Amino acid sequence: MSIAGGVDKAPLRGREAGCDTIQVFTKSNRQWAAKPLTDEQVRAYKDNLAATGIGPVVAHTCYLINLAAPSVSVWRRSVASFRDEMERAERLGIPYLVTHPGSHLGAGEAEGVARVAEALNALHAALPESALLVLLEATAGQGTSLGRRFEEIAAILERVEARERLGVCLDTCHLFAAGYDLRTPTGYAKTMGELAACVGLKRVKAIHLNDSKAGLGSRVDRHTHIGEGALGTGAFRLLLNDRRFRRVPMILETPKDGDGVAADRRNLARLRRLLGWPGEPTGKGGHPTHGVGPPTHGVGDPTSRVGRPATPSTRRGLR
Ligand SMILES: [Zn+2]
Repeated sequence: MSIAGGVDKAPLRGREAGCDTIQVFTKSNRQWAAKPLTDEQVRAYKDNLAATGIGPVVAHTCYLINLAAPSVSVWRRSVASFRDEMERAERLGIPYLVTHPGSHLGAGEAEGVARVAEALNALHAALPESALLVLLEATAGQGTSLGRRFEEIAAILERVEARERLGVCLDTCHLFAAGYDLRTPTGYAKTMGELAACVGLKRVKAIHLNDSKAGLGSRVDRHTHIGEGALGTGAFRLLLNDRRFRRVPMILETPKDGDGVAADRRNLARLRRLLGWPGEPTGKGGHPTHGVGPPTHGVGDPTSRVGRPATPSTRRGLR
């Protein structure tokens, strides 16, 4: 959700678009530095959040951060900036901070994994009281970015001492571009089986729902509207009706196309239709018509968590 005019405006925009949950940046996503949050901003944000009933909120780190950076100065700057992001999120009462693991920039995957783990260990040591959960996002594997395979995320987790302070964020576009075929029940089950074996499904604390402009295994990270990309609707139907994820916040990161509210509402409606929400043309009073089990989200269901993106448009991976 856009934070133009201040992060406190995001819950109001979320309500306007019809979201149950939102993702925000707590500062500009393209700048290292940010003014500290004022007490007034924090209060306004919390008041607006309470008034809308939206939650849980997910924060996303700025795109400049690279915890896998081979350059010591960039790595140090990234860790300092990440610490600031953790403190900002915590101050706003946000429980989850999503980050891309980082890019090794040619140093190799093993080296990159080691640097990310070292950064997370340092951050955990610096903020021992923080209740925030950092979520490592599965990526499309564009360029030298880490997180394309579940094994890479598992390798980072293995090297972090306070593993209980970490979770995982899935992204349908990234998974598909990384080569995980979510379109069919067989491909979906295989992907989730691998995820369960590598990191465990309980680690999944947030899911980004985006269609993909690029094809299976393309390693190209280009988000598009639900049902208009190479993924189609099958993957979303399987994911939305997977009871194992019924309490996991699901966030749109789809393009805004000028009128952000209209685009958000359209994408949300498409997703909710896959759950057998009222308004489904073939709907029989809230039952899914596709045979993948009972709807796990519904109108008025407090576990419904289909939300809105932080990103203004098609997102690119870290460089
Ligand atoms: Zn994402």
